Amino acid sequence: MSAKFKNEVIINLLSKYELIWSLGYLSNLAGWELETYMPEAGAVDRGLALAKVKGQIQQLFLEKEFVALIKQAQKENNLNDYEKAVVRLLVRELDQFEKLPVEFVEYCQKLISEAQVAWRNAKDKNDFTIFAPYLENVVDMNIKQAEYLGYKEHSYDALLNLFEEGQTTKDVDSHFSSIKPILKKVLAYIQSSKKYKDIHPISREPYALNDMAKINNKVLDFFNVDLKRLRLDVSSHPFTSSFSTNDVRITTRYNSTDFGRSFTSTTHEYGHALYDLNCDPELNHTPIYGGTSLGIHESQSRFWENIVGRSESFIDKFHKIFQTLGSTYSKYSARDFYEYFNTVTPSLIRVEADEVTYHYHILIRFEIEKALLSKDLKVVDIVEAWNSKYKKYLGVDVPDNANGVLQDIHWSMGAMGYFPTYSIGTVLSSQWAHFLENELGNLDKNVNTTEGILKIQKWLKNNIHQFGSTYDFKSIIEKTTGEAFSTKYWEEYLENKYKDLY
Ligand code: MG
Repeated sequence: MSAKFKNEVIINLLSKYELIWSLGYLSNLAGWELETYMPEAGAVDRGLALAKVKGQIQQLFLEKEFVALIKQAQKENNLNDYEKAVVRLLVRELDQFEKLPVEFVEYCQKLISEAQVAWRNAKDKNDFTIFAPYLENVVDMNIKQAEYLGYKEHSYDALLNLFEEGQTTKDVDSHFSSIKPILKKVLAYIQSSKKYKDIHPISREPYALNDMAKINNKVLDFFNVDLKRLRLDVSSHPFTSSFSTNDVRITTRYNSTDFGRSFTSTTHEYGHALYDLNCDPELNHTPIYGGTSLGIHESQSRFWENIVGRSESFIDKFHKIFQTLGSTYSKYSARDFYEYFNTVTPSLIRVEADEVTYHYHILIRFEIEKALLSKDLKVVDIVEAWNSKYKKYLGVDVPDNANGVLQDIHWSMGAMGYFPTYSIGTVLSSQWAHFLENELGNLDKNVNTTEGILKIQKWLKNNIHQFGSTYDFKSIIEKTTGEAFSTKYWEEYLENKYKDLY
């Protein structure tokens, strides 16, 4: 057992936890394989197997002996931060397992497997009516789940808390009220510029998958990744799966034009991977291995995607490599590529949105989810609500549901309360950047050299990554920056960057 854990009760608890960890590990592996290599028709069998294993994990958690050990650990004094975190996270998970009846958890798993099939079908056929009855069940399921879990003010609190420990609807409301005027101001400035355009010509240039794959590997190489511990595969929705500090996997995707989407998917997922690779290895196999919450995780992926990967000095470093994508690329300068990577324009699809308008996509989902949960909005009216919010916030007309309400996988997976973490994490990435620059100097001078990249990685490891989930959202921000979560650095970042670009 690792030297971080000295208390007898904690050591005992962690050794009992190993079986739960193993089942979680195998489920995670099956989930990764489902998205990457599994034949499509295997989805229902895989769904059943995962549901059964999840039920088994719940039963192991609820075994009298394990529960007694958790309760005993809660009474221990003089625990160090790592030991306290083990207790905090096990209590949190136990609480959820105790409140959600086994039959309900099984029902949810079954519903999710079916809803995902229906969603894919509905999206392919551009027919919302195929998915609508499942979405109604998903909304009911979430309402029920919130009732089981309990909440103080808004049923949405209970769901948010599943993804972002301790965050409330009020926190998210106040986050959006503080960023809304900033978004409005920055977007109005950009749209009034002479340089404003809907689309950058580079996005129309074709590329070959193999050439782009080489570039993705080059960027990972520049980031000095250890390919014995990380692999890159392909999936339609890029994601990261982390197993331990010895095995983290990311995916990217390839279209045939607009190469930046593949590139930024790679740098984004790399940010998630680095967080989990740089966790202290002594935390492997414990509940506190890996990133602390979705918001903190997203702050890491957005840091590498936007703040590093979309910076002028980084693009300058890579522009000659981008030119190898084909003869038509050689006419573009480093500055052209920089402008291409930072083209801001309101659009329909969240995952393709630029770093400014992106937040409106999240705000729209947050407002809709909140209204569904409080029963102020019915599923039958969701298309109208979606389309009118896209008009209101982004000024775009939604042509069909495949490019509208059916675009995201989240609801088909049963997840509501997840989206806000994307916006919060993105804003937080600027806060980290500010404090990192205080110590390391200007990022532009660091992101284009190997030494600079290593220094950035080291700062992130020392201040954030090594701790895994030892500290929660609020504590890790306070510990590293000495202040609370703030939008002011993000506002500065946007203003500086886009005043130069537009
Ligand atoms: Mg992400």
